[in-house]
Amino acid sequence: MRFLELCNVLQAIEKTSSQLAMQDALARFLARAPATDIGMVCHIILGEIASEFEDVNLGIAEKTLIPAIAHAALTEEKAIAGMFKKKGDIGLVAADRIDSKGSLSIREVFDTLHTIANTTGSGSQAEKTKKLESLLRKCSPIEARYLCRLVVGNLRLGAGTMTTLSALAIAYGGGKDGKFDLEAAYNICPDIGIIAETLARKGLKGIRNIGVVVGRPVRSMLAQRVSDISEITARMKTIVCEEKYDGERVQVHKRGERIWLFSRRMEDITNQYPDIVEAVRTQIRGKSFVIEGEAVAVDSKGNLLPFQHVMQRRRKHDVAAYAAKIPVCLFVFDCLSYNGNTLIGADLLVRRKQLEKTVKESSRLKLAKQLVTTGLSDVEEFFNVSIEHGSEGIMAKKGDPGSAYQAGTRGWNWIKWKREYAHNLRDTFDVVIVGAYRGRGKRAGGYGALLCAVYNEHEDRYETLCKLGSGFTDADLVALPKRLDRYMSLIQPKNVVCTPAMKPDVWFSPKVVCEIVGAELTNSPIHTASASDGIGLALRFPRLMRFRNDKDASQATTTDELRAMVKKRFH
Ligand code: AMP
Repeated sequence: MRFLELCNVLQAIEKTSSQLAMQDALARFLARAPATDIGMVCHIILGEIASEFEDVNLGIAEKTLIPAIAHAALTEEKAIAGMFKKKGDIGLVAADRIDSKGSLSIREVFDTLHTIANTTGSGSQAEKTKKLESLLRKCSPIEARYLCRLVVGNLRLGAGTMTTLSALAIAYGGGKDGKFDLEAAYNICPDIGIIAETLARKGLKGIRNIGVVVGRPVRSMLAQRVSDISEITARMKTIVCEEKYDGERVQVHKRGERIWLFSRRMEDITNQYPDIVEAVRTQIRGKSFVIEGEAVAVDSKGNLLPFQHVMQRRRKHDVAAYAAKIPVCLFVFDCLSYNGNTLIGADLLVRRKQLEKTVKESSRLKLAKQLVTTGLSDVEEFFNVSIEHGSEGIMAKKGDPGSAYQAGTRGWNWIKWKREYAHNLRDTFDVVIVGAYRGRGKRAGGYGALLCAVYNEHEDRYETLCKLGSGFTDADLVALPKRLDRYMSLIQPKNVVCTPAMKPDVWFSPKVVCEIVGAELTNSPIHTASASDGIGLALRFPRLMRFRNDKDASQATTTDELRAMVKKRFH
């Protein structure tokens, strides 16, 4: 299939602001994409050339593209750089300057970009520029526009994974049920390329057969929250209490000698934790498995240390030195597959039994502490002990029949109960930063406050909840541009909903997540979270707790969760 055909659709999508129109246009196109190309097409729609877990990085910033565009357009680099400064969108610059016949196939674009991603070592930057230049020479303006945006990782379409899955369901039938099956399969196999190709080749039957594969991460199961601890007993009969360790979630995969570690965002973090790899190798029996746990920093006596400590282990350099300086213990709590048997459909206590049979404990790897009970007083006691032990709170997990591992889902099989909920009724929220306001006074020259949003799962978009200006340390403030500016967008991202009153000085594509506390949710005409009739929800007195590099935007607090909290508190 020709790249131009895809670009024409991308342009049509970019022009529409209606989610439904976007979905329909995508569906019409996907229905006629050949099975050999549909996987690549879906990746490109999402602005990527591989799934997140594959760790394929083009390593190209606008700065690298400028010489490639200049050479392809036979212009001076200075002129291109100047234009980019004015337009702020490298795609528009390329479209303005490049005008060939447009002879690229999707396959050629995809394969060349993969070759570029694999180009490393000395001289690689020049090599990458050359390859890009040769692609650009074959581009019509519209192709140049989307190719350049794809390369820098900012397609500006506003079509997320959920929209693409809906479009696939429309294109290949199955209606609502089809969408449900596709989402379920995507949660187990978070590779849109495999999902699309399987659907095109084998239909929904093929989709329903997609299972856990070692080496390919499964989307993490998530927990609901309640506003009163007694609600836990109303939701589940057999309560499996576990400590809620305050660390980094790790999904361990092993096949033969090969071990992978994936983060909650499904990044491959194997190299960050040689100590966990070693512990897995020596302490977990089995030829192949997928096991989940929480890596927590510990001191020399084995006491648990807060989240900030384990976050220092997120590094590419000095890994061995930091492994010695900040040792961790992996507390394992789930088993998704064992020696070729998928266990996600099995009940929690069956999965736990498998862990108990398989794991040999040491100070580096342990089973999560657990208590199985039916009584609320036990739960409360377990919570108090967990807090004293340095945990964030507890996870109350359903131990009754029907307690499968719900990949990628925030269901009622797991409920979290945290310190903050118990002590002062303040809630914590994981919000996505979608904009910033310039600082004044002491904060002049930097950002003074951030516009934060929650995730609307139904519409696959981000709705604003608050303006966040407190809780930052001086170091946080200094680091904000470095953290955020790479996601800057000159126009309002299409998947962000904001009222004119809250319009920020700078927009960001929704990528960076932080955890905040707030005093109260109120109705507000200036925020859009869960809005109806122009009145949204706003969080009063928000305060930054910490950045959550381990979460991606779609794992932020959802509008459904907000609504549930309001219902509990105020009615
Ligand atoms: P939250 O990030 O507040 O939504 O809470 C869910 C997170 O708690 C999971 O993603 C895990 O990283 C973490 N966690 C800590 N201890 C456990 C446990 N025993 N079971 C499941 N998740 C846990």
